[in-house]
Amino acid sequence: MSFELPDLPYAYDALGPYMSAETLEYHHDKHHLAYVDNGNKLLAGSGLEGKSLEDVVTGSFGNNAGLFNNAAQHYNHMHFWNWMKGNGGGTSLPGKVQAAIDSDLGGYDKFRADFIAAGLTQFGSGWAWIAVKDGKLEIMKTPNGENPLVHGATPILGCDVWEHSYYIDYRNARPKYMEAFVDSLINWEYVEELFEAATA
Ligand code: ZN
Repeated sequence: MSFELPDLPYAYDALGPYMSAETLEYHHDKHHLAYVDNGNKLLAGSGLEGKSLEDVVTGSFGNNAGLFNNAAQHYNHMHFWNWMKGNGGGTSLPGKVQAAIDSDLGGYDKFRADFIAAGLTQFGSGWAWIAVKDGKLEIMKTPNGENPLVHGATPILGCDVWEHSYYIDYRNARPKYMEAFVDSLINWEYVEELFEAATA
């Protein structure tokens, strides 16, 4: 199996004004494509050819840094495009994910504060997450391409806090970017779908 760049699930201008077409053109067409191309070069001869993307990510972690970084970022970005939509965010969440946020994360307001704090305190490049671990939701943060899969958890929401995700639209204002992501971009229906799959 080789890695392939998926099309965006919406038009390049669909996430304005919170994420511009220019950001998506660079982020998807250049950065994500580079992870796909480099990942395919490094997959060849790695012994992990033919495995699922998830198994390449967990199988390369800690022993093949080049392959891991590119495969994990391919996995992260494939989901990231789907974690956003036009007219997303807001406080009316699908029922099952709302109930889990209430019971495991202390309710929506605490989730919002803790998720944004995770992204802001991730020094340098990385990701903020909601992951399912042992059947419960957890807020996590990871550096660079690392993700919850390598910590025995399944990500159901992730926010890319690499500068390439926000520098064109927000310059260095990571807090404003994270607030816009939570309040106006999150595709909660996709989060619910991943939550149901992770807890089935
Ligand atoms: Zn990115």
